[in-house]
Amino acid sequence: MSFKGDPTCLFCRMSKGEIPSQKVFEDDLVFAFKDINPQAPFHVLIVPKKHIESLSDISQQDEEIVGHLQSVISKIAETNVGKDGSYRVVINRGIGAGQSVFHLHYHLLAGRTFGWPPG
Ligand code: AMP
Ligand code: ZN
Repeated sequence: MSFKGDPTCLFCRMSKGEIPSQKVFEDDLVFAFKDINPQAPFHVLIVPKKHIESLSDISQQDEEIVGHLQSVISKIAETNVGKDGSYRVVINRGIGAGQSVFHLHYHLLAGRTFGWPPG
């Protein structure tokens, strides 16, 4: 499957290999890579290859992609964190919540203790 994407979007360009990244996982639907500014010892971003701007822009036809993406997250976590390890998954939606790249992405963070409520 191939997605045209947005030629100006950073994560579209990274998933197409036009901009280098530290790839952790890739298949037809999903791309995962290390965050350039890690907030934990293990910090990976998991993105759909299809350009979807945010969590609020998921349509019914994207449900298969998003479901698959979430199962990829748990596999990456299992491989890198271990079954009994703790990890946190975060989606920032909107500028007020900290979204800075407008291509849907899940943060997978592990390797330290996380506080609650989040800052
Ligand atoms: P957010 O603020 O939730 O939109 O998350 C965007 C994330 O993308 C941040 O954690 C950034 O550190 C990360 N980021 C920005 N540019 C790059 C890049 N070139 N390679 C890897 N991660 C990046
Ligand atoms: Zn994009």
